[in-house]
Amino acid sequence: MPFHIMIIPTLRCPGMCKYCWGSDKQAEIMDISIVENIKEWLECFRCDDEVHFTFHGGEPLLPGYDYYKDAFKILNTLPNHSGYSMQSNLWLLDDEIADLLVENNVILSTSIDGPKEITDYQRGEGYYDKTMRSVHLAEDKGLYVSYVCTFTSYSKDYASEIYDYFKDLKATVKIHSALPSLRGENADPWALNQEDYGKLMVELLDKYLYDLDKFQIMDFDHMAKSSFIRRGTLCAFNDCVGDTLAVGHDGNIYPCYRFVGMDEYIMGNVKDKPTVEDLESSNAYKLLHEFNDYVKEDCKRCRFIKHCNGGCPYNGIVAAQSPKAVDPQCEAYKLIFQNMKDRQKQDLIKNGIPGMPGAKTSQEKEEGEPFTIMDLMTK
Ligand code: SF4
Ligand code: SF4
Repeated sequence: MPFHIMIIPTLRCPGMCKYCWGSDKQAEIMDISIVENIKEWLECFRCDDEVHFTFHGGEPLLPGYDYYKDAFKILNTLPNHSGYSMQSNLWLLDDEIADLLVENNVILSTSIDGPKEITDYQRGEGYYDKTMRSVHLAEDKGLYVSYVCTFTSYSKDYASEIYDYFKDLKATVKIHSALPSLRGENADPWALNQEDYGKLMVELLDKYLYDLDKFQIMDFDHMAKSSFIRRGTLCAFNDCVGDTLAVGHDGNIYPCYRFVGMDEYIMGNVKDKPTVEDLESSNAYKLLHEFNDYVKEDCKRCRFIKHCNGGCPYNGIVAAQSPKAVDPQCEAYKLIFQNMKDRQKQDLIKNGIPGMPGAKTSQEKEEGEPFTIMDLMTK
């Protein structure tokens, strides 16, 4: 069973995004010796399973070229490493780092919230140009860059413009909804309420079904697939506990990057080379399991339990300050999954059962007609 280690070299970030809850201007930067410790730990931790690394932050490019040159050299010696990703605003990308990322086949993802005016309004003056300059540099080097777009209480009113923007870019984009945070109050006015989030997603899905061949909204692709195979495929709809771990700048291990810096969620430290059993005996692990147990009971009558799994444990636990809570985006998830189910029914009535005599295929759809949910499920 593959697993995922997120390396958080620092929680520091030079950006000034107005709704950000995760950056800390004073945060320290990971010493390369911690990467060595990560490697030594993984030599005896689940060494029969493939491990994928994601560098995340704060801003993961802050440690600079020498850090990454050494980090890749160290981690590449692990026989079970299966690849690298990085989530970054890319401001610090230059030729030298880009070449290093190409050499190590790093999959890049960056964050912009749509056209320049909207992105700069939400993320600070100059953000858009700095990020897009680097996107072009990365693409010129042959790196593929996907996007995370955060919808807020402000940008929800510009959904069409934002949609068209990513469609014109032929982008692969993942949608986040801004959430309130316990770490600071700055995020709260930007948070998207659940009704608005659900409605926004249904509105975007309406449009997307005309454009499945033009670009990719990962959330819909995964949610449709989850409905089809009745198992979550995005981390928020899968049981991430134990198969995703994050390592902070000091080697502390957490259940996911979202918990980094929260002392009560430290599961161990890479320097101690904890075993699976050690991590499972940590208080943090028990809290996450309490979340899973709560979901099993609380969501058992929900028709979407198989594809949702109670959503993201961080969202649930942190919003309620208790593991006895589901993801507060529950109502929005229900709305979207239900909408997909209803559309699927309508498609079946209109086009017949795929594969059966007389059924209409997507190749036979008329000019200007939308694709079907089944097309999305099997995309
Ligand atoms: S805690 Fe949430 S964001 Fe983190 S891996 Fe799990 S589902 Fe994903
Ligand atoms: S949609 Fe809500 S009730 Fe249903 S499984 Fe997800 S969190 Fe639980």
